[in-house]
Amino acid sequence: RTRKRFGQHFLHDRNLVDRMVRTLDLKQDDTVVEIGPGRGALTYPLLEDLPHLHVVELDRDLITLLRQENTPDRLSIHESDALKFDFRTLKPADKPLRVVGNLPYNISTPLIFHLLSQSDAISDMTFMLQKEVVDRLTASPGTRDWGRLSIMVQYYCQADYLFFVPPGAFSPPPKVDSAVVRLLPYPTLPHPADDEDHLRRLVAQAFTQRRKAIRNSLKSLVSLEQFEAAGIDAGLRPDQLSVADYVALANLSPPQS
Ligand code: SAM
Repeated sequence: RTRKRFGQHFLHDRNLVDRMVRTLDLKQDDTVVEIGPGRGALTYPLLEDLPHLHVVELDRDLITLLRQENTPDRLSIHESDALKFDFRTLKPADKPLRVVGNLPYNISTPLIFHLLSQSDAISDMTFMLQKEVVDRLTASPGTRDWGRLSIMVQYYCQADYLFFVPPGAFSPPPKVDSAVVRLLPYPTLPHPADDEDHLRRLVAQAFTQRRKAIRNSLKSLVSLEQFEAAGIDAGLRPDQLSVADYVALANLSPPQS
């Protein structure tokens, strides 16, 4: 049986699984972590290409199954909530981790931010997700999907849309379309904020009025002089500003402490 609260939709389309594994272009000495292996739809194909794999899974029954079918020298099973898991503990001294998974959609956004907070230990993440979320993660400024999620994720990493996955690839089929995304954390941030909490609050505040000029929603945080100093037209809508624009506004309007 499947557990709805764990967002369980198991992949059964081997072509799509193979496509996902191929996009990873695995090297023998890569240290790879799979989040939510489930019944192993992705795990076993990964183990065909790798001598060893880490998995993080929450569901006890699935862990029992994985333990029965695998030996610890090939598969390290971490029985844990991925939202609380310290991925840094798996990183070898000489190189960063690669992370992959067909994620439980109900926790995908907090999970991505949890991983991005440990991104110094991670070289790349390849995830199957709700397509709507992938569209937002990979959006460009000025488009319909550009918003808080796009900005805060693209602050930390490059996000690439890889390919579409129809509901029929899963059992049971989810109600929504899926897609595969690749996130590449920047080794050094291209536009560092002096205070990331302030940036986060400012972006959230900006999007409280998506269709109005940004000077309205940011009235209490950014003065017209600060807009001018950042070289940003205060008459633009919040979805017309880039990550660099938001960082410039945040750095020019430090919170009063
Ligand atoms: N990888 C499998 C596949 O493609 O068939 C399963 C994918 S299913 C969408 C998501 C998996 O994540 C399930 O096995 C579920 O038990 C697991 N899971 C759900 N919440 C989790 C969490 N917080 N931490 C770790 N694993 C979780």
